[in-house]
Amino acid sequence: MVQTRTDDSIGDPGAPGLAGLHLDANRDRWRQRLRDVTSRDVEAALATRPGSYRLDRLLALVSPAAEAYLEEMAQQSQSLTRQRFGRTVKLYAPLYLSSFCVNRCRYCGFSAANRFERTRLTVDEALADAETLAREGFRDILLVSSEDRAFITVGYLAELAAKLRERFSFIGIEIYQMSTGEYRRLFEAGIEGVTLYQETYDRDEYARQHPGGPKADYDVRLRGPDDMAQAGMREIGLGVLLGLADWRIETLALGEHASYLIRRYWRSHVSFSFPRLRPACGVTRDAFPHLLTDRNLVQMMLALRLCFADAGLVLSTREEALFRDHVIALGPTRISAGSRTNPGGYSQADRGAGQFEVSDQRSPQEVAAMLARHGLEPVWKDWDGAFLGQRMGG
Ligand code: SF4
Repeated sequence: MVQTRTDDSIGDPGAPGLAGLHLDANRDRWRQRLRDVTSRDVEAALATRPGSYRLDRLLALVSPAAEAYLEEMAQQSQSLTRQRFGRTVKLYAPLYLSSFCVNRCRYCGFSAANRFERTRLTVDEALADAETLAREGFRDILLVSSEDRAFITVGYLAELAAKLRERFSFIGIEIYQMSTGEYRRLFEAGIEGVTLYQETYDRDEYARQHPGGPKADYDVRLRGPDDMAQAGMREIGLGVLLGLADWRIETLALGEHASYLIRRYWRSHVSFSFPRLRPACGVTRDAFPHLLTDRNLVQMMLALRLCFADAGLVLSTREEALFRDHVIALGPTRISAGSRTNPGGYSQADRGAGQFEVSDQRSPQEVAAMLARHGLEPVWKDWDGAFLGQRMGG
């Protein structure tokens, strides 16, 4: 039974949020509950109205027993996605601004513990990279940076966003965590979306993976989406780094977190991303025992779609082209294309090391053609933002 909350934040210590459900620690009871799900439970979950969230429904859909129902889940997910989003899939491109970082996340090539030649872009250099993307057709851009507050300041981002507004209809950030006031300033400068991964909702694993730096505080991290919603951000991106902890329990925690945010901040739209751990500088996959198979990832995406009809599902170029082709019609609503994960990588291809290895190396045009082959319409521009902008401007 899902608990009703009256707390101010899902991360408040002692509040009946994730901790009250034991989704952040001592997860053995959830492992057992997942094992106890029967075929009849899965069939009951599939018989209820698709698109509505209940924790016990999500539990059934991510259980091992549901693996035998992937085909039915895929059909429901595809039809629900077409109902809510039509045949459109948005295309976006990440623009990496800096590879300097004060954190030492064990799974990341940009960790302060790694030695390699780091780079950071001036505002003008970032604009040059963005211009390359605009010429390729992108109007939806995601600014990405490591925790480099000394250089990538709020002022830097506000200045860059104000200039990018001339060419891009939607600007999002995937950057170090900020305060509500800082998010508000960026919103006023034209940034409308923030993605902030919890990385893992398991406290012990979080502590192991974040041995130092400002990112090491689990509860501070968990409060980030509240802060961005209170600042007025239109898009809130959630996710975990898949491979750090048991994906089935992580999906339950993600579902609870999203449900809390949707109930509390109805003006903001929630989306899920699915970054699977990738090899990078100093990072090998052997060190991570919870890696997902392709079938696991498909099940996770379908289960979330069947519980959150209106959530965006984001799939990046971390995934292989073949995998993206297979799942694109089943639920994703936004995908990246032609990505470079090194700052300056669009205008100077061999500049510095990337955060991780990109898997889908196809050009944006090749990805757009793939969408068309699936009967989907690639959308380069964020029409919601353009429409809202017109209405507000008019
Ligand atoms: S995940 Fe982000 S914060 Fe952590 S080391 Fe990498 S760039 Fe820095």
